[in-house]
Amino acid sequence: MQKLSLLPNDLISAGPAKIMWKPCSRGFSVKSMYNILIQAKFPGDIDFPERVIWQPVVPMKVKAFMWILSYKGILTHDNLMKRGWKLASMCVLCRAAVEDINHLFVHCPFSCRVWNLLLNMVEMGSPLEDDIATIIKGWPVAKPNAWIDRFKSVLLHAFTWEIWKERSARVFRDTSRPMQIIFYKTCRSLASWMAASGVLTEQNRQEWLVRMFQAYPPRQLNDRTLQLEAGES
Ligand SMILES: [Zn+2]
Repeated sequence: MQKLSLLPNDLISAGPAKIMWKPCSRGFSVKSMYNILIQAKFPGDIDFPERVIWQPVVPMKVKAFMWILSYKGILTHDNLMKRGWKLASMCVLCRAAVEDINHLFVHCPFSCRVWNLLLNMVEMGSPLEDDIATIIKGWPVAKPNAWIDRFKSVLLHAFTWEIWKERSARVFRDTSRPMQIIFYKTCRSLASWMAASGVLTEQNRQEWLVRMFQAYPPRQLNDRTLQLEAGES
């Protein structure tokens, strides 16, 4: 009561206390809460890239991964060390640098080769930013006028997901696949997402395969790589 007495009089009501819900004048509703969460209209979070992340054609587990990635929450070595882990950090993809989140998805030579092939395939320029969270926020969500625009919209999902899976396979299962297999797997993931959502015609699928083999012709693969690829179907 002593503290209340310090408040200005116009902030103190003489009536009974009641629960207030500012977003909706009629009181709390699930709909108003849902709208807040979807629009992320929280102080300091107005730039949340919900349209980039929550793409309908992308599987939920990949969208959830992208959401965590957007605030740099995945457990790369830099994040583990922030939590007190003692690590001799090394990127398992290139074995030439310390693993941190921007190295893994933006600067790693292994990832960059996959990324550049994908960007060439859809005729996109490389993002100028060197921070993965900034790249996600600025990723173009094109209106799906052309089928290829649909692929561009979710290219970042497929790329980061396949890079993370390869990184995890090397760390936890001691298996590794070459760069071209990760490229092919990314292309196949994109095509399967589109096919599952019913937005991919057979003609578009064929054109996508043509682009994929033009970007990295199969003749560049050696016998071992082809065996691995056959096993990944
Ligand atoms: Zn690396």
